Amino acid sequence: MISITNLRKVYDDNGYEALKSINLEINDGELVCLLGPSGCGKTTILNLLAGLLDPTSGDIKFDNTSVINKHPKDRNIGLVFQNYALYPHMTVLENVMFPLTVGRKKMQKKEAEKIAKKFMAITNIVELANKKPGQMSGGQQQRVAITRALVQQPKVLLLDEPLSNLDARLRLKIREEIRRLIKEIGITTIFVTHDQEEALSISDKIVIMDGGIVQQHDIPSNLYLEPKNLFVAKFMGNPIINIFNMKKQETALVGDNFSIDIKLLDQSRFKADFNKTNYVIGIRPEYFVLGKTALFKTKVNTVELIGKDNIVNFEANGSYCKAITDISDGIKEGDIIGFNIKYDKIYIFEEDGARVY
Ligand code: ATP
Repeated sequence: MISITNLRKVYDDNGYEALKSINLEINDGELVCLLGPSGCGKTTILNLLAGLLDPTSGDIKFDNTSVINKHPKDRNIGLVFQNYALYPHMTVLENVMFPLTVGRKKMQKKEAEKIAKKFMAITNIVELANKKPGQMSGGQQQRVAITRALVQQPKVLLLDEPLSNLDARLRLKIREEIRRLIKEIGITTIFVTHDQEEALSISDKIVIMDGGIVQQHDIPSNLYLEPKNLFVAKFMGNPIINIFNMKKQETALVGDNFSIDIKLLDQSRFKADFNKTNYVIGIRPEYFVLGKTALFKTKVNTVELIGKDNIVNFEANGSYCKAITDISDGIKEGDIIGFNIKYDKIYIFEEDGARVY
């Protein structure tokens, strides 16, 4: 198990506090994504785990033993970066063997070759053995880089945006492969990405970060369905969740075009006191439902076709909104349509982003 406690990092050169106080536990064999916008501190955590950076305070333990004062070489970690970093003058086989033939645990060439070939078979790169990095595609090079990290049979595999140099289609393919491979080998893996789809598709758990703080550490579906705060609700989901600033007045949350009757909310979903005046309401595009008897009527600004669904753009309660409707509903620009909302699927947040409902 990896335990991170009160981990803080202030960069000495500019005094910037990149990590505020991180607490995380990662179980053996789990594939965990660190997800968040640029600058939220993902790479900083990875570099602290790898020992490439020293923390300002806090602790990192692998299996109950602190690794803070251990040299990167002694942490039993495999690292893969987005730019592959293969040796251009070596063949694939030589690249993969390389970590086994240097350092303290230096092996005989024959033994190193045997282990390298075993892992190359698992990652499907046997036929590339005699090629040099310059003769391969980005996807092939990334597979080689991952194999080179795996041959050392590290306890933990750290991947920093490993797919970001690949085109969209190849990314899909390689991310499936990475998941299969990691689960087959059973290695604890921490994968940095800023792409929510990538994180949702491969992870056992996701750590979503913002401003050097963990916003939520959870299974992928919970991040979408049960966001802990407004940041997570807005970060997860495409199209982005619709947001409305509304005022609570007696039995309703009141807006210019539509109000929400508080009695129709599922009372069991309230998580905190609900006695303030200003609230932020989040409604995902799929939870606006077309209806003849509607909560509100609106004019369709534009319609975007996305395969079997339409995204309908409209304005309500002072916000530009998106709803997903079935293509067979035949909604067109300029139509006047009526929407209801799913009361048990909306979210209510306080102004500071804390979730109330
Ligand atoms: P990205 O997705 O853009 O790689 P990230 O989430 O990985 O972002 P980090 O690289 O961890 O973010 O950086 C976190 C913050 O720390 C950023 O604001 C960055 O500018 C700052 N930072 C990173 N490295 C240094 C450094 N060596 N000196 C000073 N500040 C740094």
